[in-house]
Parts: sequence; structure tokens; C-alpha cells
Amino acid sequence: MLDLLTKRRSEPRLVQVQTEAIVCYHCGRMSSVSTKAMSTACEHCRKPLDLHDIVMKGPHWGGVLCTCGRITITRKARVQAKMAVASLSVDILGQFRGLVICGGPVTIGPRADFSGAVWAPTLHVEPGAEIAGGPFIVGVEPLGHVEITAGGPRPEPPADWLSTPAGAHPSMQPG
Ligand SMILES: [Zn+2]
Repeated sequence: MLDLLTKRRSEPRLVQVQTEAIVCYHCGRMSSVSTKAMSTACEHCRKPLDLHDIVMKGPHWGGVLCTCGRITITRKARVQAKMAVASLSVDILGQFRGLVICGGPVTIGPRADFSGAVWAPTLHVEPGAEIAGGPFIVGVEPLGHVEITAGGPRPEPPADWLSTPAGAHPSMQPG
């Protein structure tokens, strides 16, 4: 044990920066960042990026929630936002009003109260969730197609998403 400690101490220390790949929610392209970073700028579009996961636990009214990680709207949260943008995933368990844009799976939980729109590669709605609004556009990679800004009107989906065959859309049955 002592040998091990001594040996370890005498070894030259390499400064290793652990990096991970992130997807920019502005342009949809990949950058690598230090795993310790909480924010960075995209290597491609140079826009600032938030890296920390967002967990909403209470009332929130505001513009844009965005992260290169995950967004969770917990069971007791009541969130109204222009957009919730996450590169990895969005889980909605409570009340949410707004547009969800996600580079990964979106899940709407069994007791969620959702009113708004979802643009994401996949959408899973648990039985019992209350759903209103739309459009719910799945099978798309929305990152890079949407200007993420807190001001102005809610963005419209690109026309070619809406003109995809009807079979590509989930049939959303509220209740
Ligand atoms: Zn970018």
C-alpha cells in the first residue's frame, strides 16, 4: 500500500482534460468541451452554450430554457416558457406550456399537463398525460433549424417538416 502511494506520488502528473462531445442547440453541430465546464461557446457558431442540466421544481415563467444536456420538468413544477431547448432529452412530469425543441427523446409523463408543441426525433407520451396544442413533429432533428431567442413570436416549424407524409406524425389523442 505504501509502495503504491509512494509510486503514485513520484509519477509525473499529466494534466488530463477530460472532454466530452456536446451538440450545440443553436447550430446542431458537435463540439468537445471539458467535462468540468459549466458553459462554453460553440466551436462552429461561437454562440454561448449552457451545459448544465436543468431541473425545474416550482413555478417558472420566462423566455427560454436551454442546455446541451437534459431538461426535467418535475411533477410539482409549473413552467411557462417560450421554448425549452435541450440537446439530449426533455422529461415533462408536471405542467408545461410552451415549445419543446430537443435533439433527443422527449417524454411526457403520466400525470403531466402539457400544452404546446414538440419538435424532436422521438416523443413518448405516457397514458394519462394531458396534452393540448401542437404541432407535435417527430422524426426530425430540430437543432440547427431554429433560432433560439427569448424575444419575438414563437417560431414556426420549417414547411418541409409539416409536409412530411402523415404516417410520419404521431397520432396525438388527448386524454
Ligand atoms: Zn453552434
